[in-house]
Amino acid sequence: MTTDTPASTDTAAAKAQPTTILPSFGNRFAALPPAFYTRLQPTPLPAPYLVGFSEDAAATIGLDAAAVQDPGFLDLFTGNRIGDGSLPLAAVYSGHQFGVWAGQLGDGRAISLGDVPAADGHGRIELQLKGSGQTPYSRMGDGRAVLRSSIREFLCSEAMAALGIPTTRALAVTGSDQRVLREQAETAAVVTRMAPSFIRFGSFEHWYYNQRFDDLKVLADTVLEQFYPQLLQEANPYKALLTEVTRRTAELMAQWQAVGFMHGVMNTDNMSILGLTLDYGPFGFMEAFDPRHICNHTDQQGRYSYQMQPRIGQWNCFALGQAMLPLIGSVEDTEAALAGYEAVFEARQDQLLHAKLGLTTTQADDDKLIDAMFAILKNSHVDFTLFFRRLGDLRIGNPGQDEAIRDLIIDRPAFDAWAAQYRARLQAEGSDDDRRRLAMHAVNPKYVLRNYLAQVAIEKAQQKDFSEVAKLHAILSRPFDEQPAHDKYADLPPDWASHLEVSCSS
Ligand code: AMP
Ligand code: MG
Repeated sequence: MTTDTPASTDTAAAKAQPTTILPSFGNRFAALPPAFYTRLQPTPLPAPYLVGFSEDAAATIGLDAAAVQDPGFLDLFTGNRIGDGSLPLAAVYSGHQFGVWAGQLGDGRAISLGDVPAADGHGRIELQLKGSGQTPYSRMGDGRAVLRSSIREFLCSEAMAALGIPTTRALAVTGSDQRVLREQAETAAVVTRMAPSFIRFGSFEHWYYNQRFDDLKVLADTVLEQFYPQLLQEANPYKALLTEVTRRTAELMAQWQAVGFMHGVMNTDNMSILGLTLDYGPFGFMEAFDPRHICNHTDQQGRYSYQMQPRIGQWNCFALGQAMLPLIGSVEDTEAALAGYEAVFEARQDQLLHAKLGLTTTQADDDKLIDAMFAILKNSHVDFTLFFRRLGDLRIGNPGQDEAIRDLIIDRPAFDAWAAQYRARLQAEGSDDDRRRLAMHAVNPKYVLRNYLAQVAIEKAQQKDFSEVAKLHAILSRPFDEQPAHDKYADLPPDWASHLEVSCSS
């Protein structure tokens, strides 16, 4: 379904014009064989306007905040003009969706512009427009993204980066009044995403399932050379690559769980070969704790529920392992590469949970203490973010001062009993209240992107008021800071938010 206006404006290829905003683009992905992608131009959008801009993301490619004032900025990051040196392309990939082989997918609405040097001197950063028009991989889709989902991707990418979680970044969102039909008429937007690479597990699966093992090797060699050069020294670099991607994925899952992030669509085409959080759709942050919580309204089986994420991360690594088998050479070596997943996940989860609880040592009964805590969170439907944040304020010698945290809990006797054990545990390691509060507040965010916060910003943006996008983005870029002026952004969701449903439609 598309309401793209025909001919003159919309189907006209974007004009090539040098821009002074960025250095000339390089085109690493375009150096791959032609079968890996289709060269094409973004489809312009009429009269674009700025919806959001991330100064922090811009800084990673040495782009000054003033660039946003440049007359060329909007055109460049809407796809209406092509930057100097850019060879825009859409990449092909395949994947497993909801556990089922889906065959060929590909960049159906994303167009990569090319890459520019990272400001820190380490490698290059690819810039990709999401929502910039149809490609040969659009299937039934219109190649567009709506304002609503683009704002969500922008805010969450930047919020995750500020939380210290590996993720693709978002430079900007631009909007246009061009109508896009979803369940209802909405308007179009483009997010400019940035990452060293957008190569996915599904990029490997694509060549494996097409039995094009030469192309599979080209892809793996390219990934190794560009992103994992240290592994080229290994006896079997492909096995080393799978080992490392498995490790990064396990780490990422532990990090998601620790902040209550739920991705919602962990299909193998949404899994980054660099271990980044990739493709923000119907994601959510845990509020009232329920390990079975499903943030994607269309995921009726709960395949991608909170408690399933670590297992699905592993399942996806197995899918990658299957695809890399012809390169690795033996089932034994492939299994060996995958075998590290659980230990990495558990060690990282253990470390993160100890930090969340302000524990600096590990003791025999810690698992019991942690399990008992999660049982209370679950039984009392405790807000995940507020619980850990307020737990940092607990004073060992003052059970009478636990009111702020007790307020979150229905079964208060259960909490009091647990808190007594927790206090004893803290005392046993000689924990200092002030030091522990600082350490806990540095790992337990006060501000996360609650769905209702995004919704408020989206509804204002739909009325052309982008101030709330900017404000929320600024608050979420300092998630661990108190920011007392913004206390209400850390509040429990209001009653109306319980009716919010986030669908896959974007
Ligand atoms: P996602 O679930 O967003 O990861 O998308 C799965 C596949 O559908 C990818 O190949 C996307 O490029 C494609 N896709 C999603 N929405 C659209 C759209 N509006 N137009 C074209 N392709 C789309
Ligand atoms: Mg995707």
